[in-house]
Order: sequence, then structure tokens, then C-alpha cells
Amino acid sequence: MQQPDRDEILKFISDLGFVAGGVAPAIATVYESEYLSWLAEGQHGQMNYLERHIDVRMDPRVLLPGAKSIICVADRHAQHSRLKQSDEPLESPQGRRGKVARYAQGKDYHKIIKRRLFRLVDWLKENFVEAEFKVCVDTAPLLEREHAQRAGLGSVGKNTLLLRPGEGSYLLLGAVVTTLEIEPTKFEPEDPCGSCTRCIDACPTEAIKPWSVDASRCISYLTIEHRSSIEESFYAPMGDWIFGCDVCQEVCPHNQPTRRSSHLASYADYEPVNRDFDLLEVLGWDALDRQKAFKSSSMKRARLDMMRRNAVILAGNEANAQPALVDRVTVIANDSKEDVLVREAARNTIERCGW
Ligand code: SF4
Ligand code: SF4
Repeated sequence: MQQPDRDEILKFISDLGFVAGGVAPAIATVYESEYLSWLAEGQHGQMNYLERHIDVRMDPRVLLPGAKSIICVADRHAQHSRLKQSDEPLESPQGRRGKVARYAQGKDYHKIIKRRLFRLVDWLKENFVEAEFKVCVDTAPLLEREHAQRAGLGSVGKNTLLLRPGEGSYLLLGAVVTTLEIEPTKFEPEDPCGSCTRCIDACPTEAIKPWSVDASRCISYLTIEHRSSIEESFYAPMGDWIFGCDVCQEVCPHNQPTRRSSHLASYADYEPVNRDFDLLEVLGWDALDRQKAFKSSSMKRARLDMMRRNAVILAGNEANAQPALVDRVTVIANDSKEDVLVREAARNTIERCGW
């Protein structure tokens, strides 16, 4: 079979607006024992899907039999010149607001990345009709970060995120596993962290050990994936994060705006739509309100009761909570028709805050 030209593929990826592209060989992970220990220790919390299809997750050749290569891409979703602005305290005339992690502020990245990866696949199929492709954006059992690092897209930092030295970690990843044999891009592993421990020191829940995150303690997991009550010891560390958490990225030296990084543009479709939410409003949401707020967004993993649970907890993190918020939380705590998850958070908050 005729060989695909790697440089032409990389040019196509660049023309699609990805900030980085590369090719890795489709080989098994080198972190199988670490992954299995992480699962055995329960650090994945309630994300039971991570226990399934382990053979597939460990080797992309099980995901796509005959796979030879993985084409990896990355989008930048946040612009460095804007980072300071989005770190401002979230007080509005209407009241206290809960922050959304940057990756989820814009339109749904799954769709934005997949749409363009399917264009890449269609283009490749024109010349390689017999080749097979599997497009993966976050939802397939593929260790995208490890393959992206091997494809030369960046290096994994102590906070376990892929970062591009000097350009930061506000990246979203996608991949195409294929039976095509494509020459891999240069892979020069490097430690982007050195003696830095800023993310470890700043993590509000002490979830980070070098190159390992205990997801069951991570605010991102707790606010988005944890489907039952949140342990009270995590209430105060949640600060004002209603969906996700960016602390370990905000403190990273690679994410600080520099003259160079301030000029790096993000992909236009990630323009923030949901930067934050008014807590009182979220507490008053019904299913339709949530649906409207999350339209075109990747935030749909958080159910209505989870968002309201998070809002209740954040209300208690205000030194001088607005009377309207205190009243609302009190009504929730005493309403027998309320969702159990939200009511329990309200009762705990009232006790914790002495309201
Ligand atoms: S996202 Fe937040 S809670 Fe999770 S590891 Fe990073 S700093 Fe810690
Ligand atoms: S904050 Fe420091 S230790 Fe953490 S990922 Fe960034 S460079 Fe590495």
C-alpha cells in the first residue's frame, strides 16, 4: 500500500486550526501497572467506566485491530492574554457566582474536535480506501495524553496534564487511531517541571502527588463526576468552583502570560459562553433551565441535582453570605420534596456555617 505523507497530514491538521499535531506509533501503554494500582486504590472514585475495557485502554490495537499509528491533535481553549481577567473575584450586582473550569466555558469540545477529525479522515480515505480509522475525543477508552506526548505534542507535568513548555496546558486533545503506517513525529521526552511543586502546593484538596492525581479528591471529579453526597471535608476547599477546577493550571509557570504566549490564539469556537453562574439562580433551576444553560456545552455530565448540590456548598463558602442565599439554602434544607442530594448538602451547610 502507498505510504501516507506525514508532513502533508500535519499541514492538513494545522489548516484545520489545531495548535499542534503529531503521529505516534500505535503501541501499548507503558503505564499499565500504575493504572491498575490507581484503580485498585479507588482513586477513580465513582468513575466505574474506567474499570471497563481495560484491555482496550491499555492497547490501541485492541480498540482498532491492525492499528499502526495514532494521529494526535490539540486545540488551545484559553487565550493567555485573557487569563488574568478570568481570575477576577466573581461578585456581581446580582450576587455570588460559581466558577466553571476554562475547558468547559465554550461550546462542546467533543463536537468541535470530532467535526474536524472526520474531515481529516475523509481526506485520508480519498487516497487510502482500505485503511480503517477510529476517531477518539475523550469518550473512547484511549490514553490520549500518553499517546499525545509520544507524538511530540508536549510533555506531561506533575499535575498529570499535557503541557507545551512556554505555551501552557490549556489544551484539549483528540486522536485518530488508524491502520495506516505513518512515520512517527519526533518524540523527545523531557521533564517540564524540574524542582517546581506549585501545583502540588496549591491544590486545595491535596490530590496531587508528582505525576499522579487522586481523582476521588479532585474538585473536578467531585463537582462533575461524583453522583452522590460530597464529603464535608471537601466543602471549604471547593472555594467557588461550581464545575471543575483550574487551580493546578492557574499556578503553573507554563500558563503565566508572557509576551510570546499572550499572542497565541485559542480556537474561536471556544469563546467563553458559561464563565460562571449566579448561585441563587442555579438553586432555582429546573430541568429546563439547566438544559438551556448547558445548550451546546460539554457541561451535560453534571446533573441538575449535582449542580444545585454544588451551588449549596459554594453558598456556605462565602464569609458573609447574602441573606437571600441563606434563606434559599434554609428553605431547601427543610423541604421534604427537595432532591435528597441537595437537601443533605443544605443541612450540612447550615450546620457548618451556623446559619
Ligand atoms: S483540578 Fe483542582 S482539585 Fe483537581 S488536582 Fe487540580 S488543583 Fe487539585
Ligand atoms: S506547576 Fe510546576 S510542577 Fe506543576 S505541572 Fe506546572 S511546572 Fe510542573
